[in-house]
Amino acid sequence: MRPVLRLGGAPLPVVGRARVYVCGITPYAVTHLGHAATYLWTDLAIRVWRNVGVPVELARNITDVDDAMFDEARRTGLPFDQIASLQRFAFDRTMTSLGIRPPDHEPTARAAVTRVIELATALLRAGHAYERGGSVYARTAEAAERAGLDRAAAIALAAEYNDDPHDPERDDPLDVAVWRAARPDGGYPSWPSPWGPGRPGWHAECAAMVLSTFGSSVDLHAGGADLRYPHHAVEALLAERATGVQPFARAWLRPGTVRSGGVKMSKSLGNLTFVDDLLTRHSPAAVRLLCLVRPRDDDWDFDEAAFDEAEAGLDLLYSAASRPGAVRDASATDEVDAALLDDLDTVRAQAIALDSGGAAARRFISVLGLA
Ligand SMILES: [Zn+2]
Repeated sequence: MRPVLRLGGAPLPVVGRARVYVCGITPYAVTHLGHAATYLWTDLAIRVWRNVGVPVELARNITDVDDAMFDEARRTGLPFDQIASLQRFAFDRTMTSLGIRPPDHEPTARAAVTRVIELATALLRAGHAYERGGSVYARTAEAAERAGLDRAAAIALAAEYNDDPHDPERDDPLDVAVWRAARPDGGYPSWPSPWGPGRPGWHAECAAMVLSTFGSSVDLHAGGADLRYPHHAVEALLAERATGVQPFARAWLRPGTVRSGGVKMSKSLGNLTFVDDLLTRHSPAAVRLLCLVRPRDDDWDFDEAAFDEAEAGLDLLYSAASRPGAVRDASATDEVDAALLDDLDTVRAQAIALDSGGAAARRFISVLGLA
């Protein structure tokens, strides 16, 4: 019998393969530690599944149609798709350096524009959306309720994530644009649609990419903790309203945010720690250990001095692995597997590995990709 992975405290049995989708990058800035942590935890979930014989199919999208990309193109004078190609190459190289398994599917927003039009059409037909001035808005106030937010908090977050809640065209500030009419000044790229030229909305892009890759649901949907609302909540609601299938995602994996000096790392604050820089001074295994052996959902502050501890932790693991195993070698290895299957409890799994040594330590090193 295949062991079952528990996530968020609930068992997540799968029949056949596990379908995993993780929100990818907007390819206009090089990879920072916050991105790496999200993709490392997603990779770990996949490795834990594969360790117990569950095949996994991973889709990691590229959000290459996004106003932030278009703004970057204006600033640099380069075509947005050229910026996206260069950044994708750099991102892939960094992911490979970190030992992160490449995705089986890499849908791009640019190639999914027609899928977003199909999603908008389905929502209009079902009465969950309305067209106004060449834009299509979906009624998504329920997403805020589902995320446990009051309206004021939800509106503030919608504004922070460029959902434009104060746009007077929409019936409710918490409605989102599935399709956004082209700007009158022609400032951003646009594509033809039944409602005139325009561009897809971000949440609708991910919903359309999941549905077109996997059908109406996924087993696990991952992304950074900051994507809980509006992005994930709205994406799920759009998909469920379009397909009638609930839940859109059987489980969510949202690792805690990486902060610097107590605030979230972000391009706009200029406090990013770039993974490529870290890899000139530290091993990929140390970066993996630093990001992965901690309580997964807690936000944490990055401090370069933490690498001293990570390097020391690796030395302990390597020497534990070279010890002859304890008498209970086989059961200790099973205990490492069980801890990882129990909500990816890397902290407990590491303690068992260090305590038992031998095969249990080697199993921990292998599943976490620390060799
Ligand atoms: Zn997404």
